[in-house]
Amino acid sequence: MGRSINGRVGRVAVVLALPIALTLTLSPNPVLADPSPQTGQVVPDRQPSTDQNGVALLRIVVPDQAAVDRLNDMGVDLAEYKKPLDNGIEVHAVLSPQEAQDLRDQGFDVRGAISDQTDYAQNQAERKSAIMSAEAAQDERDTLTPLRAEWFTSLDDQRFLSVEVKSSATDAETVLTATWDSGPKTAPDSGGTATMSRFTDAGQYMYHRFSSPLPITAAPTKVTITSSRGGSVTVPVNKWLGEKRKPPSKHYVEDFVDHYMDPTEVTGRITSLARQFPKISQIIDLPNKTNGYRRAAQAQFGTATASTFYVTSKAYGSEGGNDIGVTVAQPATASAPLSIAVAGKNVTVNLATDATGAISSTARQVVDAVNADTAAAALLTASTYRGNAGAGLVAAAPATKLTDNLKAPASVSRAPFQMKALRIGKKRDGSKVGVFLYCQEHAREWVTPLTCVETAERLLRNYDRDPATKKLVDNLDIFIMPTVNPDGGTYSFYDYNMQRKNMTNYCPATSGDPASRNSWGVDLNRNFTVGSLFDGYSGASSSCTSGTFAGPSELSEPETQNEVWLTHQYPNIKFAMNTHSYGGYFMWPPGAYKTAGRELLPRVDFGTENYFWNASSHILSAVQAWRGTGIWPGQTGPVPDVLYSAAGNSADEHWFNRGIIGWDFEVGADVYNATTKQFEAVGFQPDFAEGHEEAMEFANGQLAILEVARSFSDDNDRPKSKLEVTGRTDSSATFTFTMDEPANVYYTLDGSRPTLSSPRLAAAGMREGAQQITVDKTTEVHWFAVDIAGNVEGNYKPDGHSNSYRKDTVKVRNVR
Ligand SMILES: [Zn+2]
Repeated sequence: MGRSINGRVGRVAVVLALPIALTLTLSPNPVLADPSPQTGQVVPDRQPSTDQNGVALLRIVVPDQAAVDRLNDMGVDLAEYKKPLDNGIEVHAVLSPQEAQDLRDQGFDVRGAISDQTDYAQNQAERKSAIMSAEAAQDERDTLTPLRAEWFTSLDDQRFLSVEVKSSATDAETVLTATWDSGPKTAPDSGGTATMSRFTDAGQYMYHRFSSPLPITAAPTKVTITSSRGGSVTVPVNKWLGEKRKPPSKHYVEDFVDHYMDPTEVTGRITSLARQFPKISQIIDLPNKTNGYRRAAQAQFGTATASTFYVTSKAYGSEGGNDIGVTVAQPATASAPLSIAVAGKNVTVNLATDATGAISSTARQVVDAVNADTAAAALLTASTYRGNAGAGLVAAAPATKLTDNLKAPASVSRAPFQMKALRIGKKRDGSKVGVFLYCQEHAREWVTPLTCVETAERLLRNYDRDPATKKLVDNLDIFIMPTVNPDGGTYSFYDYNMQRKNMTNYCPATSGDPASRNSWGVDLNRNFTVGSLFDGYSGASSSCTSGTFAGPSELSEPETQNEVWLTHQYPNIKFAMNTHSYGGYFMWPPGAYKTAGRELLPRVDFGTENYFWNASSHILSAVQAWRGTGIWPGQTGPVPDVLYSAAGNSADEHWFNRGIIGWDFEVGADVYNATTKQFEAVGFQPDFAEGHEEAMEFANGQLAILEVARSFSDDNDRPKSKLEVTGRTDSSATFTFTMDEPANVYYTLDGSRPTLSSPRLAAAGMREGAQQITVDKTTEVHWFAVDIAGNVEGNYKPDGHSNSYRKDTVKVRNVR
């Protein structure tokens, strides 16, 4: 998921909505919306309205520039607009009805109105109502809901402040300012002050935050946020990350990657690891082979679009396509017919000539002749350039070999790729909690396979050296797929480093020419079945050349089928980590919405969401432990809250279809430059010194996920909850629940027995705490809590008959 949920490609460009300009600068080709019909089209002219003096902006069509000059000389109020028509020039003038009639009397072709007093009145009314509602909002003091306020350190112990606040005033005029202290017992504004940015997505206001964390010198204790609308709130600033970790034993070994590795090397590495550690690991051959690092061979002839054609071999380049040659010959005779000759793998196009001996074959004629020739058509297919009609005359060309343009050394196989997963665990019989770590869904994210390889190496090589590692391997069933996109990955290494997708070409001839080859392929992290493009979700494309092409249908690709197969084959898998690059994110489902109304896939329940936040703290503290990198709180959370919608991504697939906790990493956090005081992006393929550090720190993160999974697997602690009354009026009371660990609370207000079908405590809102429940009479509340591992408070059996649930009475005075 990177900036595609994972690569930084996907930011939607902001298109400014320009009003239809009535007064463009003088230009022969106005590029904005055309306010007038073309000559010859019959469009009913609007008549100017008669209120006030009936002044309107009218179209006048004149025969030539001399007539325009005449209008000018007459003092006509012309707009800065002039458009050439087939039979004259269209200009626009502001005219009263009388002025318009005078011009008509002088023979001018005065046509209908572009705008008149009615439009003026309508604009005035809209303006008035907009100003009134803005003023009304101004009068109303807004309410500020603090979401998060944290400080943290990154890299060289530089401190940063991150604050997120939601204003009840959602308009763009509301300005929030944060002010913080510089530690205990310091002045409230001694730390600094800064204006916050308004975070919007899919046209909706989300909340205010800093666009990137602010560098600070001292750790603050409190921050006050004030709004231009009058709202104000002061909240404590918590420390983010920096959780103390037990140091590894002194025999612990790490750092096993010393160069970027292509998919062949990566797969070779896990295969040899399984051979070295047969007691605690094995290779799983995934059932679907990829299409392979291979494609058809091509050659293109011609320079001008209309006279260009290209040929594509039937066989893959590596299977004979690269041996085909094509010659375009000009016969020495006049009036020669167009003909095709095939000798072995050489195709000769003998162009037609006219009576003077000049070439007379068009690109279209050549294409049709080649495709109609049985022997030629067995070898290749011809096409005009990008759907062009091909009316241009073809030029002769010497014998040209077709090529698949693939540059990897011969040692890299061109055959369909056998994808492999490395399964690590002492007991690999499905009885242990399974964790699925997968990397490189996107080809160009070169650090990610290293992360998966490093994690595998550390687990296997420390098994006999480090007791903590032994516990992970003894108690979990770990599946590591270091490269989900081997064909695209190879292509990225040897041919086009910015390749994101796989190599399978679904493009028609209109975008099948050789120069389009770098944009073919399917975005594997958009090819899954939940919240997909095909279901109407946002963040994927149906265009075969788009960076986020979802494929022809859900799960059309062997790579994605393999991922799903693994989770079906091993139903003990409960956690998954989808590692991408870059930007420094830690994210979880849901990961997609429909743009209209920003209709999100269902959010996870409150207990699970809190569990994710708790786990984040553990996992991201482990990332930080390597070299200090602090992943920002603002880049932690459900995908659409912190990044964007990614229709059909794999984390949603695993969570919604199989209940697998599907997390996403974006390795490669921005690096803060203390000199320029700017965060600098690292990119997909930083120099290896940086790439190595990213692999090491996120291998730490993957291992911490295993620690989270292990505590999940031996969590027998029952959650404990408390009912807390948080507010009272004369006629109502408000309460919520608190718990000693992330858990869901099911409750009833009618005296009945609570079950798993009873109302469940929800979050008050995105990135907010628990909802507040209000009752207007004294109420007996019954409830129980259940944690993520399924432990129920007080050993209550929700589907049994006992009454060992929790009970409390919320009193309401009811003074009327
Ligand atoms: Zn990615």
